[in-house]
Amino acid sequence: MSTPDNHNTLFDPTTTEFLHDVHAGPAPRSLFINGEWEAAADGETRTITCPADGSTVGVVSEASEADTLRAIAAARESFDSGEWATTPAIERGKLLMAVAAFIRVNKELFASAESADTGKRYAESLTDMDDIAGAFDYFGTLASHQAGRVVDPGDPNLRSRIDAEPIGVCGLITPWNYPLLQVSWKVAPALAAGNSFVLKQAELTPHTAMLLMYALQDAGLPKGVANLITGAGTRCGNPLSQHPDVDMVSFTGGLATGKIIARNAAETVKRTALELGGKNPNVIFADANFEVAVDNALNGAFFHSGQVCSAGSRIIVEESLHDEFIAAIVARTQRIKLGGPSDDMAEAGPLITQAQREKVATYVDKAREQGAEILTGGRAATSADTTGPHGTGHSDLGAGIFYLPTIIDGASRDMDCVHDEAFGPVVTVETFSTESEAVAIANDTEYGLAGAVWTSDASKAERMARALRHGTIWINDFHPYLPQAEWGGYKQSGNGRELGPTGLAEYQEHKHVYQNLQPAAWNQFGMKD
Ligand code: NAD
Repeated sequence: MSTPDNHNTLFDPTTTEFLHDVHAGPAPRSLFINGEWEAAADGETRTITCPADGSTVGVVSEASEADTLRAIAAARESFDSGEWATTPAIERGKLLMAVAAFIRVNKELFASAESADTGKRYAESLTDMDDIAGAFDYFGTLASHQAGRVVDPGDPNLRSRIDAEPIGVCGLITPWNYPLLQVSWKVAPALAAGNSFVLKQAELTPHTAMLLMYALQDAGLPKGVANLITGAGTRCGNPLSQHPDVDMVSFTGGLATGKIIARNAAETVKRTALELGGKNPNVIFADANFEVAVDNALNGAFFHSGQVCSAGSRIIVEESLHDEFIAAIVARTQRIKLGGPSDDMAEAGPLITQAQREKVATYVDKAREQGAEILTGGRAATSADTTGPHGTGHSDLGAGIFYLPTIIDGASRDMDCVHDEAFGPVVTVETFSTESEAVAIANDTEYGLAGAVWTSDASKAERMARALRHGTIWINDFHPYLPQAEWGGYKQSGNGRELGPTGLAEYQEHKHVYQNLQPAAWNQFGMKD
């Protein structure tokens, strides 16, 4: 996937027609502010590398606080002009559907960019692009269906209604694991509602967000409504959560960052929507379909190398099934093939950065120290693994940031590995004997994003779904989500919801308009001699 001069061959932003303006000058101009591609004011740049092999994907502008302030000013001006906010909702919806069509037509290009930035398998990125187009279509359709409602005030001479209005300028901050998908869950509803926004895409994965800006421009979005900043968290993120001209901050990322954003936003009482981490239980009863539960436990834990907020990183299996279940998942885990985006034999890709791999390694080391047993994996992959059971022979596992899929058995609730999110290809195994114990274990986490239950007993499944304190519960499945269905966390997995009708309402203010058709005096004040 890389050339001898170490340039990525899957995606070259400098020859991409849509990014021509970005790369036309001597320095990249990848900040999209007020309808123009701009360089960072201080000229700083960042080199993006593919974690699968270290190849250079591209060089982009590294925004500073000053750039972010310019983007906020552009968004404010565009919102206050009212041009987009007063565009009929049905027209806003059509524009979103045009963006969906653009992504579908250029799906291979978008997927190449996403895979080059993240190192994820190209086939996965292609699927992501379908989902992203689906999100734009969904909110495009919904745009004209959530304008407000009429309230019955109980008197024919009174009128009462709720108007749904755009909230204003939205600061959108997104992570690197599903770069454009997370962006689409914010940008599509924000635009459907009539807002202007400043998007701060994760600094490691900027290219699909840049392509999206082109798509929005191409679809005819007025200038200043969509603004893109690529740059590091504190420099660019702080202004978005602190500036009084930003009305709302919607953030997806880690718990620690979410807390900083919530504190920052409190100063101006901004609305916050926080989509944070997860430590998601996958509860398997002995009466589950064994083969399907085994297969989905692997899918839950190791899809995208576990870099998924809803990863099934806690297997909680009924005691009587433990040995058989463990034997089956270990046998298959030892054969999981790792490799780069274009390696057709690969089943999972690299971790995003060296720092992320070190975090995963520390987490596993600590589990070992605390008495858990590492059944397989438990170390970084090296070049020697390229021809071993985890290699395909095509991707040099020493050149990329790979970590072997890892199963930790004998885990218990007092261990850090059960509480903390590793965000890597690591799964812990705990056991239970009764249904109520399964509930207690699965709910014993500060997070509450998602969880799954595997059983052939429909009543038990329903009882479990009610008892689990997580935002999404899968029964006999793992990972699917729908644009029509709300997504978000209980407890410290965040507040607010993305997707579904609530995902649009997040970006709206609701104004009560009350009208009296027969006004009359109250005669309460100053009426006495
Ligand atoms: P992160 O918190 O490090 O970064 C997320 C974004 O926040 C990035 O754009 C980053 O630059 C920015 N940021 C960092 N510091 C900031 C600050 N002080 N102010 C404003 N912005 C700041 O998270 P990450 O490592 O990119 O993503 C992984 C995390 O995201 C995991 O915890 C994962 O569970 C979570 N996640 C959650 C969901 C969900 O739907 N709940 C989805 C995807 C990822």
